[in-house]
Amino acid sequence: MKTLLTGGTVVSMDPTVGDLARGDVLIEDGVIVEVAARIDAPDAEVIDATDRIVMPGFVDNHRHTWQTAFRGVGADWTFADYATVVHGMLKPHYRPEDVYISNLFGRVEALYSGVTTMLDWFHAAQSPEHADAAIAALRDAPGRSIFCYGAGYRTDQSIDAEVRRVRVQLPDDAMALGLRGPDETTMDNVAADLKLADELGLRTSVHVDGLDGHRPITALHEHDLLRETTTYVHANGLPDQEIQLIADSGGTVSISPDVELKMGFGQPETGRMLAAGLRPTLSADDVPAVAGDLFATMRTAYAVQRGLDGGLTSRDLLAFTTVNGAGACGLATGSLTPGKAADLILLRSDDPTVFPFNNPIGTIVTAAHPGLVDTVLVSGRIVKRDGQLLGVDLPALKARLLESRDHVAASAGFPVDGTWQR
Ligand SMILES: [Zn+2]
Repeated sequence: MKTLLTGGTVVSMDPTVGDLARGDVLIEDGVIVEVAARIDAPDAEVIDATDRIVMPGFVDNHRHTWQTAFRGVGADWTFADYATVVHGMLKPHYRPEDVYISNLFGRVEALYSGVTTMLDWFHAAQSPEHADAAIAALRDAPGRSIFCYGAGYRTDQSIDAEVRRVRVQLPDDAMALGLRGPDETTMDNVAADLKLADELGLRTSVHVDGLDGHRPITALHEHDLLRETTTYVHANGLPDQEIQLIADSGGTVSISPDVELKMGFGQPETGRMLAAGLRPTLSADDVPAVAGDLFATMRTAYAVQRGLDGGLTSRDLLAFTTVNGAGACGLATGSLTPGKAADLILLRSDDPTVFPFNNPIGTIVTAAHPGLVDTVLVSGRIVKRDGQLLGVDLPALKARLLESRDHVAASAGFPVDGTWQR
């Protein structure tokens, strides 16, 4: 099965392939086989990419998708507000079906905005049924998804048996383990979780910060628990030597600039991570507080770091959300490179909000938005075309999401209109 994208402006994010003002991309059996100015493939299905930017799909490697029904409620929150409401008030009232619809809608929404790969950082596993509902939703949503099993939130229970139960349900590249960090549980639990991940061949992700004197990386290092397969989420305020320890271990970092700035974590550490030789990635984190698309996330990260030291380029930002993100998920995607899976998106370059699209990468990072995402392919399969998701009954999903939101909100006595006060 062959698909040929013709006449688009190609942003490959692969230095060998380069960028093409006008180019074609040939896909065969879900894999990119050629990127060139002109490709002759008479037997291929043709997608006319005229007036489109052809680029890799975005990778979001940290999103608590189960919170989707409460989008926007925490626009003005601090982190303490978030913890109180989302984990303290709302989560106890989530039924498995509430997890399912928020995860399904959240995954579909991300795909709609061009996120072809998403790591669902799931920390609402109150029961096996809740975990199974989250996994079922990711399976039912088109798109490449990774289920990151998070041990409850700051809990000290063993997760061994449950992680093993989940592990056998998922392919190797579709599961990760969300560790409890050294500031959230005992070092014995951290070590046990990581040993389990090593045994089961799982990549790991862990929330860390250096605020209030936390030294999580030093603690992990002292117990020989730094891995190249670990992604450190946020990492605000870590001292230079801890950032260097991450870099030396081969680990990766996921920065959620909007959440970090708004909720009191401090400056996103993009510049310091780059200076230490790390290749940062970006993530939305949670939609109760911020937007769920990576265009907005890139713009925040870019503006903040430019304001601090002028030290980023738009190409850096696009690497964070594509090729770096894929690498941090252990995936060979994130660029339009022959031999890689065809996870790519087409943006409308003729839309008045971005016209004329003079400087492709600069315009993507400074001005593009989800409304431009015209076509999305995952492993060569078209999942969005002409601005419409294929095979997704959005009205039905919306109705189910509202029903779920109303159930949880009523059970928790929580107003969804932003009027909640601590
Ligand atoms: Zn998080």
